[in-house]
Amino acid sequence: LLRRNGPIPLNRHSSVSRLLSTLAVLEQREGKLNVSSLAAVSAAQKLGGSVTGFVAGSGTKAVAEEAAKVKGLEKVIFVDNGAYDKGLPENFAPLLVENIKKGGFSHVLAGHSAFGKNLMPRVAALLDTQQVSDIIEVGGEDTFVRPIYAGNAILTVQTSDDTKIITVRGTAFPAPETEGGSGAVEEGVDPKAECSTEWISENLAKSDRPDLATADKVVSGGRGLKSKEQFDKLIPPLADAMNAAIGASRAAVDSGFADNSLQVGQTGKNVAPQLYLCAGISGAIQHLAGMKDSKVIACINKDADAPIFQVADVGLVGDLFEKVPELTEKLK
Ligand code: FAD
Repeated sequence: LLRRNGPIPLNRHSSVSRLLSTLAVLEQREGKLNVSSLAAVSAAQKLGGSVTGFVAGSGTKAVAEEAAKVKGLEKVIFVDNGAYDKGLPENFAPLLVENIKKGGFSHVLAGHSAFGKNLMPRVAALLDTQQVSDIIEVGGEDTFVRPIYAGNAILTVQTSDDTKIITVRGTAFPAPETEGGSGAVEEGVDPKAECSTEWISENLAKSDRPDLATADKVVSGGRGLKSKEQFDKLIPPLADAMNAAIGASRAAVDSGFADNSLQVGQTGKNVAPQLYLCAGISGAIQHLAGMKDSKVIACINKDADAPIFQVADVGLVGDLFEKVPELTEKLK
C-alpha cells in the first residue's frame, strides 16, 4: 500500500497557466454551502489560472455570495432554479455543460462525492472527453495523480482533452479559507433541460455527532467488537469522550453492529482526520483505502501481527473489552 511521499514536480509553464481557467463545482443543501465541496477550489488553485465557482438550486444567489468570500475564487456563477436543488444529474449535466461552454473553461473540477460521481461522467460524455477521476495530486495543467486498485497503486495520468473534466478526492485537498476573499457574483445560463427523473424522498441518518467525512477525530470499531450491543456499549462513549465521529469496518456494518453510513473504506467513506483511532479492526487493504491518509492512526488489537499495526503511528496490543473502557475513563 502506498502512502504519498511529498509533492510531485509541477510541469507547467507560467505562460500556459495564464490561459488556464477552471470551474469548480460547489455543492449546496437547502441554501447552505457544503464546505467539503471546496476541495475542488483547493485543487483548482494548484493548477494556477483563474478559478470560478459554480452553484445551482433555489436561492443560490446567497450561497454564491457566501462562496465569493472563499479565498482564491475570482468569481462565483449561480443559477437560481429549484429544479437543481437535489443535484439530479439528468438536468444538472446539461446545465453545467452550457455554463462551461459559455465561460470557455479549460478545466472543470468537482468533488469525488456521490454528487460529483453522479454528475461528472455525464458532463464528460456530453463534451466527448474522458474524465479523470478521484485525483489526489495535481502535477501540471494536464497531469494528475490518482489511486487505483483501492490505493494499492498510484497512477499518474496525462490528458490531451481540450476541456479537462476531473473529480477530486476531498481528503487530499484541504479546504481553502472561507473568509477574506472578494470574488464577483454572476448569474449563469439556465437551459432548463427536461429531467426524466423525479425526486421522491430521502432518508438521512441524523446524528448530533461530528460528520464522519469531515471530523477532526474518528473512532472506529470492527468485527472484534463481536456484537451490536458491545459496539454500542464501547464505541459511542469513547467517541463522546473525544468529541469524535464514529466509523466502522465493513465487517462491522455487514454484521449489523453499525449503520452502513458509518462504513470507512474502499466501498465506504474516505476520511483523513487528525486522529483515527480504531479498535477490533484488522486493517484489511479495503479498510486502509479509506483512512490511510489520517494524520495520526492509533489502534487497539489483541493480535500483534494484525496488518493495522503496519500503518499505525500508535498501537496498543490488548483486549479491547478492557482497553476501550479504560481509555474512555481516562479521557473523561
Ligand atoms: P476482521 O478482519 O475480522 O478483524 C477483526 C480484528 O479484531 C482482528 O484483527 C482481531 O485480532 C481483532 N480482535 C478480535 N477480538 C478482539 C479483542 N477482544 N480485542 C482486540 N482486538 C480484537 N472493509 C472495510 O472496512 N471497508 C470497506 O469499504 C470495504 N470494502 C470492500 C470492498 C471489497 C470489494 C471487498 C472484497 C472487501 C471490502 N471490505 C471492506 C472488507 C475487508 O476486506 C475486510 O473484510 C474488513 O475490513 C474486515 O473488517 P474487520 O477488520 O472489522 O474484521
